Amino acid sequence: MFHLQVLGTSSAMPIPGRGTTAQVLTYNDKHYLIDCGEGTQTQMMRFKTKMHRLDALFISHLHGDHILGLPGLLSSFSLEGREKALKIYAPAAIKTLLDTVFQLTYSYLSYPIEIIPLEDFQVGNVVFETDSLEVRLLPLKHRIYCRGFLFKEINKKPKFDFYKAKALDIPNNYFHLLKLGNNITLEDGTFIQAEQVLNPPDLPKSFAYCSDTAFYPDLIPHIVGVNLLYHEATFANDQQKRAKETAHSTAEQAATIAQNAAVKQLLLGHFSARYKDLTPLWNEAKAIFPNTLLANDGETYPIND
Ligand SMILES: [Zn+2]
Ligand SMILES: [Zn+2]
Repeated sequence: MFHLQVLGTSSAMPIPGRGTTAQVLTYNDKHYLIDCGEGTQTQMMRFKTKMHRLDALFISHLHGDHILGLPGLLSSFSLEGREKALKIYAPAAIKTLLDTVFQLTYSYLSYPIEIIPLEDFQVGNVVFETDSLEVRLLPLKHRIYCRGFLFKEINKKPKFDFYKAKALDIPNNYFHLLKLGNNITLEDGTFIQAEQVLNPPDLPKSFAYCSDTAFYPDLIPHIVGVNLLYHEATFANDQQKRAKETAHSTAEQAATIAQNAAVKQLLLGHFSARYKDLTPLWNEAKAIFPNTLLANDGETYPIND
């Protein structure tokens, strides 16, 4: 199970139907929150996200539309009696923000939080790792320090082939040993090597999160071939100048990054409130990179081949 739920697609400020940036990535029953704009917890309730089950948080940068929901969300976890420690991968200064808010509001968290400063890592390096998933830091170009995240499967296991096992007349009770890669000897003395019934693992799947950023080709080598690229597309071509001034991207620029990185699918978000109708952004992107989707608040996107 590897999928992304988008909770907000608006840049700068929320508008009816579009919250500010937050996404939940789910991998093998673990849930990771990426950015936490204002209203993230109400979006989670609205879209039935299992918010109490978040395993770690990733914050790209300290602009309000990516973090103003964080103190409230952390406080709500406390009100719900969370005890499990929570790791937050974020720019170091987030500690000042959280300490100040909790101090001035006399808030006390029922669980420990640990902030892991992104500044401690070089771009391209692993910041987080489980036995089956890693997260690497991506370079972005914004008005303030900002990093993207590459979530990628690791240690993919060979796949057990039931039909090959059946063809060799292997009894079912040996299957679990073979799945673990053990060779076996059947009761009649037949020796079976695990590789006789294992197929090569699937290629590792990956998701790249890139918001907020100006057009930044240096990003491309880090995201080559990803299955799903989320890239901000704040503006359409009518606002190219404004995109440059504010260190954001147009939909066409996002598609150019996707095209050059040969990603499988592009998901656009972080839309300026000026666009009530997003069709121009979609058309401009699709002209460069046809497999482009516009993110919708509440929608879930599978990360597959
Ligand atoms: Zn933003
Ligand atoms: Zn920003």
